Amino acid sequence: MDNMDFGVFWNEAMNQLRAELGENVFTLWFNISYKSASETSIMVGVPSTFYRDQLVKNYQPAIERKLLELSGQPRAMEFVIEKRLGSDEPNPTGTGNSGQPPAGRDDSRTGTMSPVGTNSTAGSGDRRPEPTRSRHTQLRTDYTFENFIIGENNNFAANAALAITKNPGTAYNPFLIYGGVGLGKTHLMQSIGNRVWETNEKTKIICITAEDFTNEFIESIHSGKPQLFKNKYRYVDILLIDDIHFLQDKPQSQEELFHTFNALYNGNKQMVFTCDRPVSEIKGFSDRLRNRFERGLNVDLQPPNYETRFAILKKKIENAKINVPNAVLEIISKNISTNVRDLEAALMKLAAYADLVGKEITLEIAQQQLKDVFSQTKHGNITIDHIIRVVAEYFNVSSGDLKGKKRTKNIALPRQVAMYIAREMTEYSTTELGLEFGGRDHTTVMHACSRTEERLKLDPSLETTIKRLKTTIKEMSIK
Ligand code: ADP
Ligand code: MG
Repeated sequence: MDNMDFGVFWNEAMNQLRAELGENVFTLWFNISYKSASETSIMVGVPSTFYRDQLVKNYQPAIERKLLELSGQPRAMEFVIEKRLGSDEPNPTGTGNSGQPPAGRDDSRTGTMSPVGTNSTAGSGDRRPEPTRSRHTQLRTDYTFENFIIGENNNFAANAALAITKNPGTAYNPFLIYGGVGLGKTHLMQSIGNRVWETNEKTKIICITAEDFTNEFIESIHSGKPQLFKNKYRYVDILLIDDIHFLQDKPQSQEELFHTFNALYNGNKQMVFTCDRPVSEIKGFSDRLRNRFERGLNVDLQPPNYETRFAILKKKIENAKINVPNAVLEIISKNISTNVRDLEAALMKLAAYADLVGKEITLEIAQQQLKDVFSQTKHGNITIDHIIRVVAEYFNVSSGDLKGKKRTKNIALPRQVAMYIAREMTEYSTTELGLEFGGRDHTTVMHACSRTEERLKLDPSLETTIKRLKTTIKEMSIK
């Protein structure tokens, strides 16, 4: 297959990733131009080593997987740094319609090219020294305890995780970490793997997402080799499975995991799972599997407070070797309280900008570049207070009631409706909404939303009500 042909797969891969990752992430990081393809690799151009490192770290596996899926042929990405024409006036702010040509379509920006780090481990290029020891292919090298900042939000979970590394399979088995998105579940789980691996490279560790576990299981059946699959998972020392909520309503995969679980448990092999909510609140799990998950230690991760957010940013700039004044870290920590992933994204956006324009990051630049991010996290003009006020008025209760503890039916229903509307009309996470509604757990918000959806199916008049409420909220927010 020649270069031209493979470009088709590249473009399609980019289209799909754009849809999956969202416009913001895509425009910011997929500043990539397709160059050429060989039998085993593809060559792409990126604007700087910083971009390349970020891509290698965060997106290369996804891109390669997507290309494999589409073309049926594995190819490793190779990077060249392009000094693009007109790069003194870049527009790297990544705010949606920033006018950048879509990545993947080669264009007139080709300029001088200097090959660097041209293999799939290019991330360990000139910024970071080549690691001297082998690495576990399923574990991210930066998801370590050393890089994990401990605050009151994750203290218990982090210490339990550390304890496990000292005595895998005995102390807390299984260990299950749950909580909302971007709070460090995957990081903490992989830290366990990395620490044990560091101590003893002979330890058999498998780290996999529940989704990949499922796919591999199905594939093993289709190819008539289920025994291979069973052997692989039942003879490990440490099994780390990420995002087990994915197994909801997948009885066969659950059954397989159940047997895997028993084999490992009986052999005192450590298991660690992550989940987006407490297991007790997952529907579509068999009782016996839920019961297994709950057998060990289940801990939750909460959003970090201001001090922890600041400390996390400090750590990130230290690792990325970028210079950011404390004042900038302060405004980011102050303005972004949703989760660590958002926090990190804001910092990286700033770093990407500074890197491209070749300027130091100042408070002014930060304020200007992160304007959209900050206002997004304030969710435009629509505030939770607006929503609560409008809904309360309509149902003839007080705003305080909706945030309060009373559970009587005349209050519970409007409260659930308000949560549902807030979820629909704002970008707040369920964790944040829980906090706004009187410090409730994010699962309460999730429950409120699904209850309201169920009600909507049965009661057309509720649909009319919600539509009317939304219109009022919108009108009120424009003023
Ligand atoms: P989750 O799996 O809960 O969605 P991740 O583990 O992927 O979240 O974390 C999202 C990002 O935030 C990662 O880059 C991770 O390194 C970072 N992160 C989360 N918590 C911490 C922490 N306590 N200290 C340092 N980095 C953190
Ligand atoms: Mg995760």
